[in-house]
Amino acid sequence: MRAQIEILASLQIVDREIKENAGIRQGLLGELQEKERGIRAKKQEIEVLTAACTAKEKLRQEKDRVLQDEGKKAVDKRMRMNRIKNIKELQALQREIDQIRQANSELEEELLKMMIEIDGIKGELKTKQEELVQAQQEWQQTQQGLQAQVSAIDHAVDEASRRRQSIAAEIAADIMSRYELIFSRRGGTAVVEVTGGICQGCYMNIPPQLRNEIIRNEKLNLCPSCQRIVYYKPSEAQEKTA
Ligand SMILES: [Zn+2]
Repeated sequence: MRAQIEILASLQIVDREIKENAGIRQGLLGELQEKERGIRAKKQEIEVLTAACTAKEKLRQEKDRVLQDEGKKAVDKRMRMNRIKNIKELQALQREIDQIRQANSELEEELLKMMIEIDGIKGELKTKQEELVQAQQEWQQTQQGLQAQVSAIDHAVDEASRRRQSIAAEIAADIMSRYELIFSRRGGTAVVEVTGGICQGCYMNIPPQLRNEIIRNEKLNLCPSCQRIVYYKPSEAQEKTA
C-alpha cells in the first residue's frame, strides 16, 4: 500500500498543477471577456446617443422650417396692411401678425434650448467615442498577451495531463476512483500526511488506534474528520515503529 499512496501523492502534485492552471486560465478568459463586454457596452451607448442626436436634429430642422414659414407669412401680412383701408380688417390683420410673432418668439426660444441639448449630446458622444478608442487600443495591447498566456497554460496542462496518465496507470482502479472523488470534494487535497499525530488536511488529532493502522499501512486509511486519505512519510513511520 505504501507504494500506491506515494504514487497517489505524486499524482496529487500533478493534479493540483492542472487544477491551478485551470483556475488561472479561467481568470484570463474572464478578463478577456470582460474587456470585450466593456467595448460592446461602449459601442451600444454610442449608438443610443447617435440615434438621440439624429432624432433631435431632425426635430430642430422641422421647427426651424416652421419658424421660417411663419416669418414669411408675417411679412406677407404686413405688406397686405398697406393695401387695406378698412380699420377693422387692419386691426384683425395686426392681431394675426402679433400672434405669429408671439408664436415665433416662443419657437425661437425652443430652438435655442434644442441646440443646447444637441450640443450636450454631441459632447457626450465625443467623450464616449474617445473612451471607445482608448478601450480598443488597450484591448489590442492586452489581448495578445492574454491569448499568449492562455496558450502557454494549455501547453502546460497538456504536458501535465500526459504525466498524469503515466502516473495514473500505476494506481489500482478502485483507489483511483476514491482518490478522484475526495480530490474534487476536498478542494484539491485528497492525500495528506500525518505529522505528530495530526492530520495535515484538517489539523485534527488522529486517534492512537488509527495511527497504528496508518503506520502499518495495510489498507487505505481515511482521516475520521476530513475523510482524506492519510499516510505517514516513511521516515516518520520508521520512527514510530522503532
Ligand atoms: Zn483530516
